[in-house]
Amino acid sequence: MRFVSSRGGGEPVSLSDALRRGIAPDGGLYLPEAIPAAPLDRLGPDLPLPEFAAALFAPFAAGDALAGELVSICAAALDSPVPTVAVGAARPGLHALELFHGPTGAFKDYGARFLMGCFDRLAEGERLTVLAATSGDTGGAVGCAAEGRRSVGAAILFPRGRVSAFQEQQLCCWGDNVLAIEVDGDFDDCQRLVKAAFADAPLSIGHRLTSANSINLGRLLPQVAYMARAAVELHAASGVRPGFIVPSGNLGHGYALLLARAMGLPVGPVVLATNANATLKEWADTGHYRPRPSVATLANAMDVGDPSNFERLRALPSADRAVRVERVDDDAIRARIVADERATGYVWCPHSATAAEAWARLPEAERAERPWIAAATAHPYKFAEVVEPLIERALAPSPPLAAILDRQARKVRIGASLDRLADVLEERALAA
Ligand SMILES: *Cc1c(COP(=O)(O)O)cnc(C)c1O
Repeated sequence: MRFVSSRGGGEPVSLSDALRRGIAPDGGLYLPEAIPAAPLDRLGPDLPLPEFAAALFAPFAAGDALAGELVSICAAALDSPVPTVAVGAARPGLHALELFHGPTGAFKDYGARFLMGCFDRLAEGERLTVLAATSGDTGGAVGCAAEGRRSVGAAILFPRGRVSAFQEQQLCCWGDNVLAIEVDGDFDDCQRLVKAAFADAPLSIGHRLTSANSINLGRLLPQVAYMARAAVELHAASGVRPGFIVPSGNLGHGYALLLARAMGLPVGPVVLATNANATLKEWADTGHYRPRPSVATLANAMDVGDPSNFERLRALPSADRAVRVERVDDDAIRARIVADERATGYVWCPHSATAAEAWARLPEAERAERPWIAAATAHPYKFAEVVEPLIERALAPSPPLAAILDRQARKVRIGASLDRLADVLEERALAA
């Protein structure tokens, strides 16, 4: 299997090269040259997620150096439970796919750990440095996934004073090969520095810089795996293809579900739940895709005005692209968290609440027709300052989140200049 750019430029590359490069030379995103059929006879509902994922990924890795490593990479990266939980009798047929039992409490753990496992095999004895700018969940997941690896270091830039106390702790608490860099500036400054570092050949080559952002295929593949597994599990139990509702930001889960369905997995209707950011809703209503600056909402990991995976979605054959979009503003997020907690005791994070609200807005007949799966993308404790006042009680951290609070935090602080970033990378020799 080879991978091509969504913009059509450049030569097709192997899976290893697509992962190592992250983005295609023409600025496009890597796509499989053809959509493979899933090996359905090997994807039973009782298969644990790591084995399910390795079997599902096999066609993508056919002929690649990683083919023989998939079983061990998946065993290490996908070892946290991903339960499908019935939300309660007051919400019949609604299931939460809980993606927050990994070490940093959001689904980004799966993709970050899978990608780092691949980098470990691809580094060929020389260390890679993952350079990332973060405003929230991604940086913590990447730092955690890089910790203690022989062949990977990570440098994570975050804007001073713009992340919550828990988020800062989660960025700054990892081992010696992970450096948290607090930048005197905003998130855009952090992103500008990262781009400038990649464009600076001596820096980029000298430190073997690589990226771990959400456009990397290695981040996406685990999203396909747990969605596909949940579909197989509920289909086996009910005889009906389950519907999916996913809280959408950069459209990773949205694209992952469409790809899984196109591969032949039993995925029913797909609903993309967004926050107040209107780009996708407008596209669904009018057919026009008009990117715009993002607006800030309670579901901040979904504050995206130009979802990067839209390029992948658009490249699918039109018959495979059928989705619906439901837009959920902050007032509806708050109301949904309160209503479901009162009716069922189940507590959603603000992102997951957009999916729960989109389910509640489905016509009654559609809800009754099949089981529905709402992706619960983060643990509500991560957003305690939003959720606790609404439900009028304290939330307990999950054991992994409690363990993060106990760790020692370290960071270096720099002005927003490439020279300063180059200095700290040199001093810390993450790529030595
Ligand atoms: C990143 C993130 C999202 C958005 O997911 P996409 O796959 O980019 O659409 C949703 N919820 C949470 C909690 C996230 O961290």
